[in-house]
Amino acid sequence: MSALVRASDPRTLPASLTPVLLTWFRTHRRALPWRRNRDPYRIWVAEVLLQQTRVAQAAPYFDRFVRAFPTVTALAQASEAEVLKIVEGAGYYARARHLREAAIELTTQYGGSLPSTVAELQTLPGVGEYIARAIASLAFDVPTVALEANGVRVATRWTRDEGDPRSSTVRRRLERAIAAVLPRSAPGAFNEAMMELGETVCRPRAPLCRVCPVSFACRAYRELPDPSVLPHRRARSPRPHVRAAVIVLDGGGRWLVQRRPSSGLLGGLFEFPGGKIEPGETPREAAQRELVEETGIVAPPLSARGVVRHAYSHFTVELHVFSGSLPRPPRRRLRGDRRWVTPAGLARLPVPKATEKVVRRLMLGSLGRASPGSGSRPDRTPLSPPSEGGRRPARSRARRTEL
Ligand code: SF4
Repeated sequence: MSALVRASDPRTLPASLTPVLLTWFRTHRRALPWRRNRDPYRIWVAEVLLQQTRVAQAAPYFDRFVRAFPTVTALAQASEAEVLKIVEGAGYYARARHLREAAIELTTQYGGSLPSTVAELQTLPGVGEYIARAIASLAFDVPTVALEANGVRVATRWTRDEGDPRSSTVRRRLERAIAAVLPRSAPGAFNEAMMELGETVCRPRAPLCRVCPVSFACRAYRELPDPSVLPHRRARSPRPHVRAAVIVLDGGGRWLVQRRPSSGLLGGLFEFPGGKIEPGETPREAAQRELVEETGIVAPPLSARGVVRHAYSHFTVELHVFSGSLPRPPRRRLRGDRRWVTPAGLARLPVPKATEKVVRRLMLGSLGRASPGSGSRPDRTPLSPPSEGGRRPARSRARRTEL
C-alpha cells in the first residue's frame, strides 16, 4: 500500500500512540499474579482462564491452579478429576480439560516446554488464534497482534470501526490497523497494554475518556458524542431453558453418582442421575424414568425436595430434586461410570455448580438451619446423607456462570 493511500485512510493510527501507550502501561500496569515473570506456562494458564472472564474472577483460580500444578509436567501427571476439582465453582471445566490434554501433548512432543510460534501453539488443545498470539508475543516477543475482547473494543474505538467485530473481515481490518503501530521491540507489552487500557479505562459502557492517555489518537472520542456506542453490539438471543429431574438415591448412607462423558458440556464432572423432563411428563415421572433408563434401578418411593435453578452462560436450568432410599446399594454391577459415594466422598469429586446447589438444598432440608451462602458448600461442610422431611428452604436465586 502506498504512503499516499495509507495517509488518507481514516483508520490509520498515529505512530505517536505507541510510546504514549507503553509509557502509560509501565506506570499503571496492575500487579497481577501472572505478571510476576514471563514464564510461558503461567502466561498460557492465565490466558486460558481469562477467556471471557474478568480478571478479578480468574485471579484466585489462577493462583490455585499454578499452586496445584506448577509446571507443565505436574499438570500432565495429574488426573482429570484432580484438575477439574481445582477449578470447581468457576465453571472452567472445558478449559481445564484442554489444559491437561495440552500439557500431556507438550510433555510428549516438546519436552515439557511450550513452543514459541503461533502455528505450533495453535495445534494444542484449547489454544485458538488469540491465545496462541498472546503466548507468542507475551512470552517470546513474537511480533503478532493479539486482540481479546478488551483489545477489540479499544481498537474499534481508536479506528472508529462501525462494523461488527465478530465478523472476520472486521477483525482482520482491526488487526491490520494495530499491526501498523505494533512495536517490534515490545509486541507483548503493547498487546498487554491494550488489554489493560480496555479493562481499566476504555470500559464497555462508561469509558474514562477524560483520563485516557491516548484520547488524542481515538477517533471515537474525537468524532462521536458517545464513544461507548462502539463496538456495535447485536442483541443477545434469549438463552434456552431446560427443565430436568434429578434423583438423589441413598443406598445405606451412600449416594449414587455418575460421571458425565469427558467431551461436551460439563464433561468429566460427577452428578446425580437424572435428565430432561419430556413434554407431557411430570417431574416425578421423569425422575422415575431417568433412574431406570440410566442405571437400571427401579426407583423406590421418591420424596420431592424442591427446585434448584441455575444459569449457565448458554442456557438456564431448573432441576426438580427427588430423593429416595434403599437399605443398601443393590449388588448388581453399575452401568457406565457410576459409583456409590459417601457425602464426604462426593465433596472430593468435581461436580457442576448445579449439583453443588442440589447438595446444599438437601443439607438445608435435613439440617433446617443453614442459610444460602453460609458456607454449606460440600467442600466446606461435613455432609449428612439426605433425610426425608425437614423445613423447606428459601428458593435459590439463579446466578450466571460460565461453563
Ligand atoms: S478516548 Fe475514550 S473511547 Fe477512546 S480509547 Fe480512550 S477511553 Fe476508549
